[in-house]
Amino acid sequence: MQLKGKTAIVTGGSRGIGRSIALELASKGANVVINCTKSIESAETVIKEIKEMGVSGMAVKADVSNREEVENLVNDVLKTFGSIDILINNAGITKDNLIIRMSEKDFDDVININLKGAFICTKAVSKAMIKQKSGKIINISSVVGIIGNKGQSNYAAAKAGLIGFTKSVAKELARCNICVNAVAPGYIETDMSATLPEQVKEAFLNSIPLNRAGRPQDIAKAVLFLASEYSDYITGQVINIDGGMVM
Ligand code: NAP
Repeated sequence: MQLKGKTAIVTGGSRGIGRSIALELASKGANVVINCTKSIESAETVIKEIKEMGVSGMAVKADVSNREEVENLVNDVLKTFGSIDILINNAGITKDNLIIRMSEKDFDDVININLKGAFICTKAVSKAMIKQKSGKIINISSVVGIIGNKGQSNYAAAKAGLIGFTKSVAKELARCNICVNAVAPGYIETDMSATLPEQVKEAFLNSIPLNRAGRPQDIAKAVLFLASEYSDYITGQVINIDGGMVM
């Protein structure tokens, strides 16, 4: 139980990668708080599974791009659990289109949730982490933020931005013993990737040396490592978890 007594917030923990991360952290003893905007019923089911593991949990409806909602969430977590030791900035959306067809709104929405959302959540927890003189922040970027992708200029910009954000905040918070890292998943089977056109999925699969799509648990295991004491001397790094797609 490496994370016994720790409290983690996993944004977008109701489904997909976030759900898997929430369950993995809980299985190692952490109390886990998850949020989402629409799928609150799924979030409640995740919390039920978490409680069955003998730890505490909480599901909250809160939009990561809304500062007030995030601040309320963080205050509630501090009141209930007394500390925030781990933040996983996982919540994300896609609104894909070619640049010539992409609306300004679709660009802004993806930046606001995928990039500004991580800023709002990080800022909201950092005061408590600075006071504690410890913390782990893990940002879920994407290989698309490193290599780009047709039809995803908004998403790639947000995910690349998240990498710069990770390194900057890692430099700022290192003196308070707070480690900030990112993971860059490749093609992982979730609701999000299910919406990709078949020929895009096939092209992704053909470019994966390990010859399979990733599973949410593949990401959750690496996130567990970055959230645990086994990574105490690692900060400002980006770990690709992509079956070798980008190397
Ligand atoms: P997913 O299955 O679509 O789940 C997204 C989660 O984020 C849901 O819980 C969703 O809940 C929540 N969410 C969306 N907008 C939110 C908001 N404004 N505030 C709070 N929560 C919000 O996606 P996924 O595939 O698990 O992706 C998780 C993360 O991994 C994302 O950052 C994604 O970009 C990244 N990633 C995924 C892949 C992949 O292949 N799947 C690859 C690289 C990176 P609601 O809809 O209820 O709000």
